[in-house]
Amino acid sequence: MPFLTYKRAIQLRQNLQDTQATVITPDQEGYPELINRWSEASEKEAGAVVIVTSSHEISLVITFATYHYIPFVVQGGGFSTSGASSTHGGIVINLSMMRRVVVDPASQTVAVQGGATWDEVDQASAKEGLAVVGCTTSAAGVGGTTLGGGFGWLTGRHGLVIDNLISVKIVLADGRIMTASADENQDLFWAIRGAGQSFGVVTEFVLRAHPQRPSVFGGFIYLPIEQLSAVVEFANQFDTQTTGDEALFFGFTTRPHAPLPIVIVALLFYNGPSTAAEAFFGPLLALESIQNETHEMPYLKMNTILGRFVAPGTRKSVSGTTFALPLDLQLMQEVHDDFDKFIRTYPRVEGSAVIFELIPYTRVNQIPVEATAYANRGRYHNVVSIFRWYDQELDMKMMNLERAMIRKIRDRAGVVSIAGQGVGVYANYAGTNSSDSVSQALINTILGHETNAEELFGKNLPRLQELKTVYDPKNMFRKWHNLLIPSTAH
Ligand SMILES: Cc1cc2nc3c(=O)[nH]c(=O)nc-3n(C[C@H](O)[C@H](O)[C@H](O)COP(=O)(O)OP(=O)(O)OC[C@H]3O[C@@H](n4cnc5c(N)ncnc54)[C@H](O)[C@@H]3O)c2cc1C
Repeated sequence: MPFLTYKRAIQLRQNLQDTQATVITPDQEGYPELINRWSEASEKEAGAVVIVTSSHEISLVITFATYHYIPFVVQGGGFSTSGASSTHGGIVINLSMMRRVVVDPASQTVAVQGGATWDEVDQASAKEGLAVVGCTTSAAGVGGTTLGGGFGWLTGRHGLVIDNLISVKIVLADGRIMTASADENQDLFWAIRGAGQSFGVVTEFVLRAHPQRPSVFGGFIYLPIEQLSAVVEFANQFDTQTTGDEALFFGFTTRPHAPLPIVIVALLFYNGPSTAAEAFFGPLLALESIQNETHEMPYLKMNTILGRFVAPGTRKSVSGTTFALPLDLQLMQEVHDDFDKFIRTYPRVEGSAVIFELIPYTRVNQIPVEATAYANRGRYHNVVSIFRWYDQELDMKMMNLERAMIRKIRDRAGVVSIAGQGVGVYANYAGTNSSDSVSQALINTILGHETNAEELFGKNLPRLQELKTVYDPKNMFRKWHNLLIPSTAH
């Protein structure tokens, strides 16, 4: 595919001259900041960044790119580490000027433009005593999170973000601007809920909001490794004990300013007062800890405290799989030992983490797997790794180590398609199969694709592929996960 030449960039600028859109080329001020991403390892030198302000402008950019067969990507919050919102030489459609959030307390709905972050949605909703499901890390983008499924602290009570999605406005690969909902363009609405990144640019999401108490209980506890068996024992009871209002993330990481020894980290959430939370989490709270930061706090704050692991900058990679309870203590000890070795062996990798995410799944599983494109509904939980480093030369090494660790968890605790259940992998955590850059292609060739469309969408893939032929026959939206790549054995 051709890159965007300077001549074409000027032509694009001319095409947009009667609009509010701005085309920034590499020679211009502001360009380096515009190609920044949450992880430096996923930054690429775009041919141009187009800052758009409307669906019409996006339509013009896409029509131009499609006509000239120039690759383009969409950037929402920029949190993807697979390079899905970056392009080597193509066009970035930057949604940062499209972040308006309008809350309607009467209908308990929130209309969100495609470039907003969850921070903006949470704050606007809280003013009306409402909350959307959102994301446990509110600095992330609404766009990428929602279109891949989306879960947050309120998922146990209200389901996934897509289960609360009422409608979208979307710009398709041929430039058409459409609305999709349960009543309009139902097949497109089905596809968008779980694989939306592969179908167009969503410029507006309408989300259902719910009454939300202002304060919740939560925070981090750091525990010594000697407490591993007690933590695993508590975790193994989670599914039978939860009422839907609790969540527990736990795993291994380094403590801020005290990298060694690595510790068990637990992040607690309870949507209610501290007295009830302390009763639920009693056995965990009773353990001798290194540091206990749990307390009652505004719900808004709860969605920001993961920021400790997720500060922008530095090179990072995210990967994930799923696990079913009960967890095996021996496996957890091995994951700890592998992680400990990793931290001791490589320079400046502090802040990396592997986290087992216990979010109640009952509500999520009330919707059948084939009811939306999202295929990861089942009686299991996500596990996510965040590896963090500085040296570009370590890119391949880090991703290789991370994938090996995730593969070990998947093989020993994961859920690979139990009959009637989901696929056992969250597409928004799964690494890349996008390859418009030479280095990424090389990484994929050497490491093997971490996953493929068949593994991510299972029995929903044939319908998705059929809908691609209707809505994006040239496969212009292929940078997130390429739905048309044939499956690869690995
Ligand atoms: C630290 C961290 C914490 C996370 N926590 C959670 C969590 O609690 N819950 C959860 O569900 N996920 C979580 N995720 C995963 C998250 O959902 C993905 O990283 C998601 O891709 C972020 O979306 P973004 O818009 O910020 O990313 P971007 O990099 O901007 O985009 C990711 C993909 O979505 C596409 N995209 C973005 N906006 C639009 C749009 N408006 N229209 C069409 N396509 C669009 C991009 O083109 C790209 O393919 C987390 C990720 C990280 C790194």
